[in-house]
Amino acid sequence: MGHTDTSTKAAAQLALLVDYFVELRASSPGGGRRSPTRSIENTAPLNVATLSHIHASVREIKEYVDIESPGTMEPLPKDPAGVYDWCIRNTEHDDEAVKRRRDTLIYRQYLEHKILAGDVKIVRRHRCPGCGTVGLHWRASVGSAVCRNRNCRTPDGLASTWTLAHLAAENIADKEKRSRRAT
Ligand SMILES: [Zn+2]
Repeated sequence: MGHTDTSTKAAAQLALLVDYFVELRASSPGGGRRSPTRSIENTAPLNVATLSHIHASVREIKEYVDIESPGTMEPLPKDPAGVYDWCIRNTEHDDEAVKRRRDTLIYRQYLEHKILAGDVKIVRRHRCPGCGTVGLHWRASVGSAVCRNRNCRTPDGLASTWTLAHLAAENIADKEKRSRRAT
């Protein structure tokens, strides 16, 4: 099933970030083991950014379940990477639209985790929603993927840019189309 693949990948990626955060904290001054190559000045901002990203991701998943499946009794797992399975378990009996938004949310978070971990090439795996080519690249300054096709322009003549939310929505819609065709 498509959503299971996505949630597994998202969970693995979030787990990597958690490990990364824990490792950084352990190796920074005051965190126990000291590393001569990493100073608190260098690691602290990354630490905070990664940690707040992890918290924000978990919070967003929890809020989604709270809104879409109010009355969920199962407590949020302590391990951040467990939130995706938790989310899927607790929206399993909801309607297709809820599941589609859920899968899109999880896939978008997977992309966000990848990009935060420095794997910006992940956007190249997606076709441009505007022209269908595979020339997307990540532009951190705008927080979006930009299309390299010179003929793919906005009405104002600018390069087409796509948010991760947009790419995620396209990806989930494509998967649905493919699985409908397969059945
Ligand atoms: Zn394009």
